[in-house]
Amino acid sequence: MPGAAERAGGALDARVLRGLRRAAPGAVSTRIEDRICYSLDATDLRSLPDAVAWPRSAEEVAGVVRAAAAHGVPVVPRGAGTGYTGGCLPVAGGVVVSTERMDRVLLVDVARRVAVVEPGVVNEALRARVESVGLSYPPDPASLKVSTIGGNVAEGAGGPRTVLHGTTRDYVVGLEAVLADGAVVSTGFLAPGDGTVGWDLGTLLVGSEGTLAVVTKVALRLTDRPLGFATYWAEFPSLEGAALAVAKITAAGLPAGVLEIMDGATLACAVEHVRGVKPAGAPEAALLVELEGDPSGFGAAAATVRAFALENGATVFREAASEEEREEIWEIRRSISPSLARMSGGKINEDIAVPRSRIPEFVRAMREIGAALDLRILAFGHAGDGNLHVNVMVERADTGQMARARDAVARLFACALRLGGTLSGEHGIGITKAEHLASELDETALRVTRALKRAFDPDGIMNPDKILTDRPNPWWQGLPPAGVPAAETRSCS
Ligand SMILES: Cc1cc2nc3c(=O)[nH]c(=O)nc-3n(C[C@H](O)[C@H](O)[C@H](O)COP(=O)(O)OP(=O)(O)OC[C@H]3O[C@@H](n4cnc5c(N)ncnc54)[C@H](O)[C@@H]3O)c2cc1C
Repeated sequence: MPGAAERAGGALDARVLRGLRRAAPGAVSTRIEDRICYSLDATDLRSLPDAVAWPRSAEEVAGVVRAAAAHGVPVVPRGAGTGYTGGCLPVAGGVVVSTERMDRVLLVDVARRVAVVEPGVVNEALRARVESVGLSYPPDPASLKVSTIGGNVAEGAGGPRTVLHGTTRDYVVGLEAVLADGAVVSTGFLAPGDGTVGWDLGTLLVGSEGTLAVVTKVALRLTDRPLGFATYWAEFPSLEGAALAVAKITAAGLPAGVLEIMDGATLACAVEHVRGVKPAGAPEAALLVELEGDPSGFGAAAATVRAFALENGATVFREAASEEEREEIWEIRRSISPSLARMSGGKINEDIAVPRSRIPEFVRAMREIGAALDLRILAFGHAGDGNLHVNVMVERADTGQMARARDAVARLFACALRLGGTLSGEHGIGITKAEHLASELDETALRVTRALKRAFDPDGIMNPDKILTDRPNPWWQGLPPAGVPAAETRSCS
C-alpha cells in the first residue's frame, strides 16, 4: 500500500524539512532505511512515511507538528508499532513522530499513588518500576514487553486483567498533549490548576488513536499490589464448553482477575512456539483462570470455579503448583499472537467483544461462518470481559480466500453487534475497521465525532485517514467489490 510519499519519491518540500530539522535537531531522517522501519505495524500492512522524527521533549514535538502543519503535511504519532488496526501507519504519507526517545518515568509518587511518564515508556518498564516500591499498575496488554504507555493510552488498551481492573482508560488521571496547531494542552493531574474545572479533555484523548493530538506526558493512577494469586488451568473437549464455564464464573462474581480462553489449534501453536516441539495432543479448548486477592478466600472460590469447569465438560483442572509453572502458563498465553503469526501466510486478527453471557452463541456462529466460507477461524482472548480475538487464517496471495475472509469479517462483526457487542474490545478502529464504524455508531454519534475531530484538527493533519475515513481497508486491496450482503448466521440471529 504505497503512501503519498512513496509515489512522490519520498521527497518532502525543502522548507518543510528545514522546519522539521530546526524543531528537532539531529532527530529527523528521510533515509529510505528509516522510512521502511517505520512503515509497519502488527497488521503486516505497510505504508512509507516521507520522514521520521524522534523528538526528545514536548517542545520538540510541538515544533515538529508546527513545521508539518504549516504545509499541510500529515503527522502520525507512533509508539512501538504493535497496533493491530494500522493506527500508526502513515497511509497518507507525512511525518511519523516516534516517541522512542521520550522514555523516562518522571515521577512515582507513593503517597498519592500516581506515576507520571513520558509516552515512550514501555508498559513493562513502568510495571517493574512501580512494583519496586510496592505498588501496581494493572493494565497489562499481552504486548506489555514492547508496547508503550503512549500507544496504550491512544488505544485505550485492555488486557487479561481488564475483567477485574478495567482498561488503561480507568488509570489515566492527567495528560499533556500537543494539538494539531502545535499548542500544548495539559489536563487533570497535569493541568495548572487542580484539573477539575471545565470539560475533561483527557477523556476525549484516551482512545483517540493519535487522530486528535500527540500525547507527550501521562499521569497514571497506581494501586496496591494484590495480596496473592492462584492460577488454574482447565481443558475442555469443546470451545463452547469453555465459553459456558466463563459465563458461569463471571455471573457468580468470583474474584477472577484473569479468564483467558483459547481454542485447541491456538493452544497447540503456542505450546510448540514455547517448547520447540509439537504437543502430542491438544484439547479442543482451554481456560486460564487466575484468582486475585486475599489467599485465605481462594479455597471456596477455587472449588466453585472447578465445579463450573467440570459441569461444562472439563477433562483437566489443575492449579499451578509453583511460580515456574505459573510463568510457563503465562508464557504460553503471551506467545499466542506471535506464534499464530508464524503459522500461516497471514491472519486477519479482529478483537470483537460481546456480553460474557453471549460468548457461547458467538463461538457457535464463528464455527458456522468458518464452515460456510471454508476458512480456518481460530479464537482466543480475554473472555472475562467478553473480548475474543478472532483470527481468520489466510494466504494473502490467494485472492479467493481473501475475498471469503472479507465476507467472514463482515459476518463476524454483524454477529457481535447483534449480540449487543462491539467491533473492537481493545485494538481500536484505525484503518482496518473504519469501513464498519457506521454499523456500530449511529448518525448522531458519528456527527458529533466528526465535529470534535474538526475542532481539534481543522486541517486534518493529525493521523489522517484513520477511524473517520472512506479510504478502503488495505487488506482487501485488489479484490473484486464485495458481492451479496453477508448472509444471516443461524446461531447469531
Ligand atoms: C502480540 C500482541 C499482543 C497484544 N495484546 C494486546 C492486549 O492484550 N490488549 C490490547 O489492548 N492490545 C494488545 N495488542 C495491540 C497493541 O499492543 C496495543 O494497541 C498497544 O496499545 C499499542 O501500543 P504501541 O506503543 O505499539 O502503539 P502503536 O502501535 O505505535 O500505535 C497505536 C496507535 O496509537 C497512536 N499513538 C501511539 N503513541 C501515541 C502518542 N504518544 N500520542 C498519540 N497517539 C499515539 C498511534 O498513532 C496509533 O494510532 C497486542 C499486540 C500484539 C502484537
